[in-house]
Amino acid sequence: MDPSNSINPTNPIPGLYIHIPFCLSKCGYCDFYSSTSISALPGFLDALFKEMEMYRPRFQAFDTVYIGGGTPSLLHPEQLERILTGVKENFDLTSTAEITIETNPADLNRPFLESMRQIGINRINIGVQSFDEKMLGFLGRRHSIKQAISAIEASRKAGFRNIGLDLIYGVPEQDVESWLDTLKHAVAFSPEHLSCYQLTLEAKTPLGRRYQEGQFPIPGEELQYEFFMNTSEFLEEAGYIHYEVSNFARGKEYASRHNQKYWDHSPFLGLGPAAHSFQSNRRWWNYRSLDQYVAAINAGNLPVEDTETLTMEQLQLEALYLGLRTRKGVCLQDFKNRYHYDLFTEKKEILAKLEEEGFISLQDGYLYPTQTGFAVADSLSLI
Ligand code: SF4
Repeated sequence: MDPSNSINPTNPIPGLYIHIPFCLSKCGYCDFYSSTSISALPGFLDALFKEMEMYRPRFQAFDTVYIGGGTPSLLHPEQLERILTGVKENFDLTSTAEITIETNPADLNRPFLESMRQIGINRINIGVQSFDEKMLGFLGRRHSIKQAISAIEASRKAGFRNIGLDLIYGVPEQDVESWLDTLKHAVAFSPEHLSCYQLTLEAKTPLGRRYQEGQFPIPGEELQYEFFMNTSEFLEEAGYIHYEVSNFARGKEYASRHNQKYWDHSPFLGLGPAAHSFQSNRRWWNYRSLDQYVAAINAGNLPVEDTETLTMEQLQLEALYLGLRTRKGVCLQDFKNRYHYDLFTEKKEILAKLEEEGFISLQDGYLYPTQTGFAVADSLSLI
């Protein structure tokens, strides 16, 4: 590749994402690829190990591993251990690698969690979603509040020092007060990380269909804004850094190192059905269907459904979109070096207007969103 087209001049170490495509049941809002045919698990694991081998010549080392899904906590500790052993046999894993697992509270008990720690997993994300039983029922989650509480407590006791809770707001019939109540419950456990996602309903999900049939309303823009602002204010007062639109960390060291790779165009490899990868200016993604994924690998091929090569202009737009979703914003000089575009000069007028309107701030060579700008970050990138 022409080095002048490289967008990773500093050559950061890539991250590894592993998609475990199984769930015991499907949540009504979920658009991620997962199958409830757990009997296909052994065939999937065999294919996953072959996929790792296939990528050995192209990726040497990783400093983050994210085991996501799906529901990785459905696997036995021995299966998870085999996965991490497979990673280490095929690639170098740096000694300080961040190794995260995504879990469902219903699957977590002390022996399982202790096994996770023993095999080297040092960060756990627990899909709590809500501390309101009614909301959990509406979302179709298979765990209760009681299970969520005991999962968090057991994770601490098992030695996890980096616990993240995933929560959802903007659920029909939820008001800001009841959402703040969920947040109060969450911070009482002092998790190191919180991800607060606004509920989005894709048309093809069961809840999306019910919404389209008019069975319930979802919060309009004003209420969404209120949810967002209250979340940010509450969690910052509780000592969390609102470092990305949906993410909060109890100290800089707890910000997700893996997700940061997605936000700053660092390379990453995704293994498993529907997983996406990115390297230099290329993005590729695997078949969504487990059957197609396994069949391709068993035929000796990479299970890649499609690839795209991003133009410098596409990379610029993405970098701006992603950068404005982070508190640290966009470093204008880095942007110029990496994407060959002088934002400050080319967009001078619109930037001045947005600054005057209180959406962005330009300071010390950085362009970053103000609190109001953060709430409308997706629209800001349209500059
Ligand atoms: S557990 Fe997660 S991946 Fe599985 S259906 Fe529910 S939201 Fe989707």
